[in-house]
Formats: sequence, structure tokens, C-alpha cells
Amino acid sequence: VTSLLDRLRAQGWRLTPQRRAVATILDGEHVHLTAEQVLAGARRVVPELSQATVYNTLNELVAMGEVNEVRVKGTASQYDPNVGDRHHHLVCHSCGMVYDVHPVGIDDLALARDERHGFSLDEVEVTFRGICSSCAERGAATRA
Ligand SMILES: [Zn+2]
Ligand SMILES: [Zn+2]
Repeated sequence: VTSLLDRLRAQGWRLTPQRRAVATILDGEHVHLTAEQVLAGARRVVPELSQATVYNTLNELVAMGEVNEVRVKGTASQYDPNVGDRHHHLVCHSCGMVYDVHPVGIDDLALARDERHGFSLDEVEVTFRGICSSCAERGAATRA
């Protein structure tokens, strides 16, 4: 898996310090950040970074197909640079942590013709939900 920055460089994306800060924050595995989190992280590198620049850069990266906007019920949109690898999500419904996962049997998943409602299908998104181990530990500690 090539990094987001490498992909952007290869495309000749204009890497201003502001845009580089945004792309750097989003680089990596299992990265799913809200726009607020991207702004906070990128401001550690470029303190004068404006919210508008972060939003514009995120929209541009999504439009380029280099970042996926993940909408998980109950949280703000999260930005995910892991676009090369078809994956699904495992979400903690307590802290909102999101992991990339590759479910077994997903290739055989089918929707019966009479349930397609005339759609031609092009993608399937599966979200697994539960409690992550740190939230489970915290919960156990609170109860103890
Ligand atoms: Zn959690
Ligand atoms: Zn993801």
C-alpha cells in the first residue's frame, strides 16, 4: 500500500505547507479522522492553518478519489486515506474508533433480484459494530 503523500506527489498535487500538513495527518493505516481532528493535528505543524483551507483540501482529496469520506451513524464524517484497498469498517459504538477490516465471505454476499428494486449494484459497505477492548476495560473498571 503506497502512502497518501506518495500518491499525491505522483499525481503532481501542489504540496503547499498547509496541504502537506493535512495530507500528513491523514497518512497511515486505520486512519479515520473528522475534519476537526485533521484541523487540530495539522495546526500542530502549521499553526496559522485556517478551517476553510482544511475543509477545501479534504473536499479536494475526496473529489480526487484519494480519500474516502466515511459516514458512520452518530459521528461526524471521517476521512480515510485507505482507498486502494477495498475494505469495510469495525466501529466502536462507545468511543467511535474505526478500524479497517476485510470480512470473510463478503465476495459471496448477494442481494436477491427481487430485493434489488431495479438497481444496478456497484458496491457493498458493511459496518461491524461493538465495543472496543479499551472501552470494554474502562467499562469493567468503572463497574468494579
Ligand atoms: Zn471504544
Ligand atoms: Zn477505512
